[in-house]
Amino acid sequence: MKNFEFYLPTRINFGPGVVEKVGEEAKPLGKRAFIVTGRKSARKMGFLEKVSRSLKKQGVTPIFFEKVEPNPSIQTAQEGANLAKKERCDLIIGLGGGSPMDTAKAISLLLTNPSPLSKYFGKDKVKFPTLPLVEIPTTAGTGSEVTPYAVITDIEDSHQKKIIADAHLFPNKALVDPELTLSLPSSITSDTGIDVLSHAVESYTSNRSYPLSEMIALRSVKLLGKYLPQVIDNPRDIEGRSKVLYASMLAGIAIAQTGTTLVHPMGYRLTSDLNLPHGRANGLLLPWVWELDLPGNFEKFANLTKSLGEDVKGLTVKEAGWKGIEVVKEFLFRVGLPKLNLSEVKEETIVEFAKEVIQNKAKLANNPRQVSLKDIIEVYKKALWRT
Ligand code: NAD
Repeated sequence: MKNFEFYLPTRINFGPGVVEKVGEEAKPLGKRAFIVTGRKSARKMGFLEKVSRSLKKQGVTPIFFEKVEPNPSIQTAQEGANLAKKERCDLIIGLGGGSPMDTAKAISLLLTNPSPLSKYFGKDKVKFPTLPLVEIPTTAGTGSEVTPYAVITDIEDSHQKKIIADAHLFPNKALVDPELTLSLPSSITSDTGIDVLSHAVESYTSNRSYPLSEMIALRSVKLLGKYLPQVIDNPRDIEGRSKVLYASMLAGIAIAQTGTTLVHPMGYRLTSDLNLPHGRANGLLLPWVWELDLPGNFEKFANLTKSLGEDVKGLTVKEAGWKGIEVVKEFLFRVGLPKLNLSEVKEETIVEFAKEVIQNKAKLANNPRQVSLKDIIEVYKKALWRT
């Protein structure tokens, strides 16, 4: 068996209503909490009020930063850090989807480490422990509440999405409350749910996976396969929402150990250049990366096919792996991945995207198959021109 190290320093509170505990959980960590949210939904849905009330009850003062845009920028994180410093905050709370949660991580980093944030892009570049951090997800997608990653957009470098990967970014605590996901509109449930599938498949097939991470990733696929369609049909189903949020958290735990493979770095340019939501970009690419990575990895892809709920009895592992490509396409369609016509994207643009991905040595090393520039170009063409 492969040697492995499993590290998850985040204390997790999971279940409907756990957001009410934020005051209790925050109290030992600080007195002035800087709450990082997106621009609208956290206030509109009443989450901000709930969090604020619970904090005040425990004598913790809330200070609000409601400015995070989707795919957050270095500038937004720096602006938040400046305000948090001015307000003498000693604790950061991220409340929202991946965008506010990642910004909260970046702010907590900037309060104890020198600017600029760009110094920390890459792996293990953070010197000093960050300010205490509590994350509260309101989408079921990124798993950022349990990962050591923050994805931040560098506007000055052609809006590229860049990653800070550092164990210092693991939140101290995660309050994972499915009630907060009941208000998600179906398009966001779909895009974020597809992100979960992408995380779980990439983690399961990563060269860095090992039996424990694989077990977690496969369980995530199984739950998602069953319950994502259910919540798409019935958005107020709290049991279904719980299972999908749990699947999202599991997939986050899995990628925190193994990293992602080819889908994520390929998807970043579809978000920054074509404005596709993060999960949707991954969904467009997933079946084609599956097809590319399949040879040599039939058993893993057969297991994924089965975990998506497909009956593979009577099929060889090879046949089940191949069948998975259609199964995953049907699943993506079933949960709302739109059929997009992106034939206007020019070949030279695709080649430019692919040249950037081929530079990403870490992700290519994770990918179960060695890939060439030509392979990546082909995947982009299939995803953008043929679906
Ligand atoms: P997001 O945070 O950008 O939110 C998308 C939209 O959902 C926003 O408009 C927001 O207002 C709305 N929303 C959020 N919660 C809601 C709710 N409960 N009800 C109604 N509307 C709600 O989207 P996301 O997909 O969660 O996060 C994407 C970001 O996370 C990207 O930048 C991606 O690169 C990053 N990411 C990070 C990690 C990580 O480990 N840190 C992993 C994967 C992705």
